Amino acid sequence: MKVISQNAHLDLKSPGTWIRLEPDRRFNPLCRQCGRPGIVHAQGMQRIIRDLDFGPAQTFLQVQYRRVWCEQCGKANVEQLSFADAGKRITHRLARYIYELSKLMTVRDVARHLDLDPKTVKAVDKYFLDKEFGRTDCEGLSIIAIDEIALRKGHMGYMTVVLNYLTGRVVWMGEGRNMETLDAFFKEMTDAQKQAIEAVAMDMWEPYINRVRHHCPQAKIVFDLFHLVKAYGEVIDVVRREEVRKAATKEDGAYVKGSRYVLLKNRENLKPDERVRLRELLQANERLNAVYVLKDQLKMIYHYRRRGWAKKALDQWCALAEEVDHRAMRRFIGRIRYFEYGILNHCDYAISTSPLEGVNNKIKVIKRKAYGFHDPHYFALKVKQALPGHKSTTEIG
Ligand SMILES: [Zn+2]
Repeated sequence: MKVISQNAHLDLKSPGTWIRLEPDRRFNPLCRQCGRPGIVHAQGMQRIIRDLDFGPAQTFLQVQYRRVWCEQCGKANVEQLSFADAGKRITHRLARYIYELSKLMTVRDVARHLDLDPKTVKAVDKYFLDKEFGRTDCEGLSIIAIDEIALRKGHMGYMTVVLNYLTGRVVWMGEGRNMETLDAFFKEMTDAQKQAIEAVAMDMWEPYINRVRHHCPQAKIVFDLFHLVKAYGEVIDVVRREEVRKAATKEDGAYVKGSRYVLLKNRENLKPDERVRLRELLQANERLNAVYVLKDQLKMIYHYRRRGWAKKALDQWCALAEEVDHRAMRRFIGRIRYFEYGILNHCDYAISTSPLEGVNNKIKVIKRKAYGFHDPHYFALKVKQALPGHKSTTEIG
């Protein structure tokens, strides 16, 4: 291409810098499809292509291009340009700039900054992301964490995230949290890669358990403390609500009712006045007290690294919990017994889904950057970009 003129405000269709480019006739045009030289088939076509701004001025390339008759492809194609795709409206270097800006700014902000359509910005960002993160890389996976993330309220708003536990890299993301979701992930793995999975940290969630057992029967499933405590929070809630009803006629009711927060919060995080409130509350209510103390005891099971001791702690916990004599508690004990294998497996692999909290913490920012959740594939790519992981491996335990 030869630059014919580089005068500002030439062909004043839009203020800015206009650069007219004509084909260099000393060379044969190249076929866009295969890159081989061909012969000129048609000429005189023109396209306006936006380039990087020149200072404060928007820069437009007025490009004349040709169609090439290509022997190799057996048809006429648009000629290949080094600086832009003749079918696109922006140059390669502007596209690259958009991609870099999109790492830092929202799609809307980039669009506003460059005076482009947000759809164009998103399409460019997605194109580069797809090239960089679109392929699922399961090489070298041995310990993974699987969890769901809630994008919006309601059942449809879930995505499943698979994380390389040792590097923190988001390996895969897919819509939903059912068996089909995980099947889609395992489909990306070779048999050897599946056999290399040693341990999986997750919640006590049957669809995940089922598919991990099916695809990686050798892998140890580890249920993490975070989800166990969260599940136990429901027991606390049920007992608390019941105590509120019982005390409804007395003024105690209001007191217990406003106590949800101090009961569910971690004891270390309580402010001094909340500590006082908690103490008063537990003194006033025996059953609530028992349920609450058991919450701390539950964490003890995870302190032991020897399976025998952890098992003993778990048995002791269940014996104490039975004393509470409440259906919600009995149901929870049943759950613990049912999932005991995965709770005790933490002795072999002291792993948890907590690295996935990084994903949850970044979701709001990524959501803003990704222009909302309308395009789950784009969103997943943005998450992978935000959590590429580190090279060195984390110590387990
Ligand atoms: Zn060709």
